[in-house]
Amino acid sequence: MIMEDVIIKVPAGKILIKNGCCPKGCSLTNPEKKFAGKPAMSAVIRLNGKTGTIHFNPYFGVFEYQSDLDPQDGDLVDLYCPHCETSLSIQEECSLCQVPMFAIHLADGGELRACPKVGCRNHHLTIVDLDAQFAAFYNEERRPKM
Ligand SMILES: [Zn+2]
Ligand SMILES: [Zn+2]
Repeated sequence: MIMEDVIIKVPAGKILIKNGCCPKGCSLTNPEKKFAGKPAMSAVIRLNGKTGTIHFNPYFGVFEYQSDLDPQDGDLVDLYCPHCETSLSIQEECSLCQVPMFAIHLADGGELRACPKVGCRNHHLTIVDLDAQFAAFYNEERRPKM
C-alpha cells in the first residue's frame, strides 16, 4: 500500500496521549506520576553515562518533563522502556539535528515521534489508522444535539 503524509495542525495540549507503549508493547503510562492530573509517560533515560528516569507531560505538544538527571539544552538523551529496556530510538532522523528520533507507540496504531536533543522541539504524531481516527471524530460531530 502506498502511504501518503497528511499534515494536521492541532493546538498544543489538546491531544492527550493515553496509551503510549514501547515497541514491544509495554505501557509507558505511569499512574504514579501525574501532570495536570493525567498519568505521565515515563521512560528510562541515559545521559553522559548515567541512568535515570524521565516523565513526560502526556499532552501532545506540551514540552514539559521531569528527570532526576536534569538534562540541559543541547544534551542528547537515550530513552529506553522502563519494563523491557528496549530502546525507543528509531531510524528516522530529526531534520534539524540529524540524530535518530525516538518513538512512543500508540494503542490505535499511531506513533508519537520526537527529537531526543533537549531543547529541540521537532516532533510529530503519526496516525496510521486514519479511517478509525476520522470515524471517531465524525461520530462525535454527528451525534444528535439534545
Ligand atoms: Zn517494553
Ligand atoms: Zn532535533
